Amino acid sequence: MNSAIYPGSFDPMTNGHLDIATRSSRLFENLIIAVYKTPPKGALFSTAERVKMVEEATSHLPNIVVEAFSGLVVEAARQRGTMFIVRGLRAGSDFEYEFEMFLMNQKLAPDIEVVALMSALEYQFVSSSRIKEVAQLGGDVTSLVPPGVARMLAERIQMSF
Ligand code: ADP
Repeated sequence: MNSAIYPGSFDPMTNGHLDIATRSSRLFENLIIAVYKTPPKGALFSTAERVKMVEEATSHLPNIVVEAFSGLVVEAARQRGTMFIVRGLRAGSDFEYEFEMFLMNQKLAPDIEVVALMSALEYQFVSSSRIKEVAQLGGDVTSLVPPGVARMLAERIQMSF
């Protein structure tokens, strides 16, 4: 009953995502982290790799399960018997997009609620796209992503040279 779904691309998972996942795992008995099967534009990691990195980063949190999914988030929530969608909000950059998504989801499924958690100060400027950009240019992003992700990023970038 008291469960939520946290959907996202997680390409790659960052410490900002992990913070939202950790905090929501305290709010809900069960948290499903749902990784979009459709890779985002400019994706660096496959669905299986993104699932693996999220699983690894959250393995210490026993009430989190990680799944790949496709289709509508509200349908994924319904299929898993949950009424709550978790999203993270960074100052400025996310609000309009998330509000629009919320209004559309509310039209599609008025019974499903969105729970938006504010990003902690240290993760306000952490985004998957910036991490990829900096890492591909040789910058050190190890303090901004879980250790397993830092390893996978280093391997992937080495492969592309
Ligand atoms: P999507 O393509 O659905 O936005 P993302 O993987 O980019 O997928 O993000 C998933 C969710 O996590 C979104 O709600 C996003 O706003 C949130 N998020 C991403 N980065 C951060 C961060 N640094 N702090 C808090 N929330 C974040």
